[in-house]
Order: sequence, then structure tokens, then C-alpha cells
Amino acid sequence: MKASRLARWTVPSSCPLCRSSLEPDALICGGCIRDLNQSRVLRGDPPEGVDRISSCADHDGTARDLLVAFKFRRMTGLSGLIAGFMLDALDQSGPGALVIGVPPARLRTWIRGFDPVALLAAEIAGGSAVSMPAEPLLRRHGAGRQRGQGRAGRLARPPDIRPLNDSGRLIGGREVILVDDVMTTGATLSASAAALRVAGAVTVTALTFTRRL
Ligand SMILES: [Zn+2]
Repeated sequence: MKASRLARWTVPSSCPLCRSSLEPDALICGGCIRDLNQSRVLRGDPPEGVDRISSCADHDGTARDLLVAFKFRRMTGLSGLIAGFMLDALDQSGPGALVIGVPPARLRTWIRGFDPVALLAAEIAGGSAVSMPAEPLLRRHGAGRQRGQGRAGRLARPPDIRPLNDSGRLIGGREVILVDDVMTTGATLSASAAALRVAGAVTVTALTFTRRL
């Protein structure tokens, strides 16, 4: 038997967030699910250019731990669970709405090996009546490094996000549900919303899992 299999067989599975024991086939434990269910959905103060915003929880506690496990420990199997909470937080959207993730910094995606926001957007489209375009419609130009800049720096130097050629054909006249994993200053959501407006979006509803207050 391979060592990795043996390890899985001998070590009881534990919740990746709190280390308490896990029911067979569960992704996280019942206690963590309860914490997430008790989170209050945040809908106030949409960033500039965004009509409405829904975020499942503060960027704190179990919600933050879940996002960290997904993004930084590369537990991509958690995407459906996170997207499920996001769908619950999305109170309304027209049947013709389009789901679009904020475009990633390409270097970051390359280093990480996957684009967490694209995975969440695909799960949201798969679990609802809204559709997701097959091709990216927005692009982030330049290094696009937002993390670690500090709040003032992020607001002073918003990311350079533009619509890709031909995106107006799909976005024009539509409601867009703009997905990001976490809202920090709102600069990325605002820059993405502005690019969506250029491409003809009529309404931009932002949907994030957590929000830093
Ligand atoms: Zn747990």
C-alpha cells in the first residue's frame, strides 16, 4: 500500500477549519457549518459603480478560515460549498443575468495554479438559472497586485481592468452578477463594474463571500 493511502486510512479525518472530527464525506464539520449559517449577510454601501452588493459574512472567523483553506491551501473541492452560501445570499437577479468573475492578475493565477474566483463563478452559474460566458470578457492589465498594498494604496491605484474585444455583444443590455471572493476596499469591484458599463451592462450586482469591514 502506498504511504499516502496508509496515512489516509490510519488518521481519522478532521475538519480542515477547526480540526474537530468529521462525518464521512463531509467537507467541513457541523459546527463550522452552523457558524457560517449564522453569519449575517452584508448588503450596505456598494462600491462606486456597483448597484447592489451581497456578501455572505465578515472576513473573519470561520468564513475567513474557509476562504483561506480554499485559496491558499488549494482545497479546490470547497468551491461548491462556498458558492452555495453565495447563492443563498444573492436575493434577486433577473433570468437573463450573466455571472462574471473579477479578472485575476495573471501572474498570481500562474503562481497559484488556479483562479479561485473563476471556480466560484462557475459553481454559481451551475447552481442557478444565470449563465456564465464561455470566454473571459474582462482582462486585468499590468501586475494588478492589490494584496499587501494597504487600503490607501489600493484606492489610489485601482487595478486596470478593461473589457475584451467583442464583450459588448454578450454584455450589452444585460444584468451582470459580478463575483469576487472577498471585498476589501471595493477598488477591484469598482474597476470591473466600470469595464462592464463600457461593454453595455445595465445593472451590476456584486456578490462576494466575505467582506472586510
Ligand atoms: Zn470545523
